[in-house]
Amino acid sequence: MSDTIAALSTPLAPGGIGVIRISGDSAIKIADRVIRTTSGKPLSVLKGYTAAHGKAYNGNELLDECVALVFRAPRSYTGEDTVEISCHGGVYVTSQVLRAVLGAGARAAEGGEFTKRAFLNGKMDLSEAEAVMSLISARGEGGMKAALTALDGALSKKIDSYCNTLVAAAANMAAWVDYPDDEIPDLDLDVLRASLEEVYGRLEGLLCKFDAGKAITDGVDTAIVGKPNVGKSALMNMLSGFRRSIVTDIAGTTRDIVEETVRVGRVILNLADTAGIRESEDTVESIGVEMAKEKIERAGLILAVFDVSRGLDESDEEILELCKGREVIGIINKTDLPHMADIEKIKAALGEVIFISALSGDGEKELSAAIERALGTDRIDTSQAMLTTERQRRSAEKALASIKEAIDAVNMGMTMDAINVCIDSAIEDLLELTGKKAREAVVDEVFSRFCVGK
Ligand code: GDP
Repeated sequence: MSDTIAALSTPLAPGGIGVIRISGDSAIKIADRVIRTTSGKPLSVLKGYTAAHGKAYNGNELLDECVALVFRAPRSYTGEDTVEISCHGGVYVTSQVLRAVLGAGARAAEGGEFTKRAFLNGKMDLSEAEAVMSLISARGEGGMKAALTALDGALSKKIDSYCNTLVAAAANMAAWVDYPDDEIPDLDLDVLRASLEEVYGRLEGLLCKFDAGKAITDGVDTAIVGKPNVGKSALMNMLSGFRRSIVTDIAGTTRDIVEETVRVGRVILNLADTAGIRESEDTVESIGVEMAKEKIERAGLILAVFDVSRGLDESDEEILELCKGREVIGIINKTDLPHMADIEKIKAALGEVIFISALSGDGEKELSAAIERALGTDRIDTSQAMLTTERQRRSAEKALASIKEAIDAVNMGMTMDAINVCIDSAIEDLLELTGKKAREAVVDEVFSRFCVGK
């Protein structure tokens, strides 16, 4: 028997309606203590998926007019009896109705507790529960589609199929080890190796796309760098579509790092507009330069900007040096002005460069395509399964390492037991990924990041 939890499931802000969700064995009984239906029938006589109009009371004090929606276990989000009370979406009204529900015997739900119950009741697995959170926090179409794909169980199905292949391989071996004299066909090591290599390849494929997938769902920390006045702020404005940082023609104006999230194609860039990189007597600006260097260190993508109307100088050279070995796109700005800079030198250092005029917006499409190419997001199909959380990536990596060990063990002619240990360990990791056999601490960690009411 589970205790009954309640929370406001819509934001605590003025709105058309506010929804208070109650879930647990006594959900309907508790709702009956708060709601008097217009028909006079208590909610407890209603079938699942039925709505009733009524009024919410705290004792005899009228709180609001409302509609109660009754769900009967197991046909609800949590898999338990659930009542959702839709009342007017005022901050005070919703908190009073919630208070009445808590006073009638429910306990205040913790963050993610409804979804945790859905998981514990087998309504969804762990990767699907994580998809719920991703869907709520999606900041663009790509993130939303990827979350819907995961919510539909695409990743779980894929991981389950890898698990099944490994379980079949392990079972075959176990039978052969335990009953060598029976009529079990000889263990074909080539077949075993092929099964392991197949799962290895597929898992590696998923892992390879992790970073690109993250660029679509969570965004990439991106640093815009360049010496003063090359047009970094103008580029940031071009990307974000409105004036965010001050653009002036006095060198060194952009002293603080201005941060902003923009969407370029399907990619989310967490942009930082840095102070111009150059040696300076000006202390404030020097601090900015240090911050810029730090920002480059942490960035997943660097947009290095150069001014085509001026020859390259030491600062430009320093930037080319700082960008070495990094994921960087060289941007030649101010193409509306006469070309003076040595573009070949930039190309030699950074490879492909993109020509833009941040003022007129020319080259935006080319830049957007170059960003998708650099991050590999042009190869991501959000309708296909992908790993979307760091937790999933860690489990997949552990499984991959164990499968590698199993393949090595086969190749080295080690005992069946030794091979089996590696396969078992890979299966455990995959079961943890989907949550079919996740440790309590892992489950708790996943749900601790959820908001209250979900
Ligand atoms: P930052 O110091 O690198 O951030 O440079 P800003 O964005 O502040 O731009 C410096 C100056 O260059 C401003 O006067 C901008 O109007 C000008 N500017 C920026 N981009 C372009 C461009 O594409 N063409 C031209 N002609 N001027 C530009």
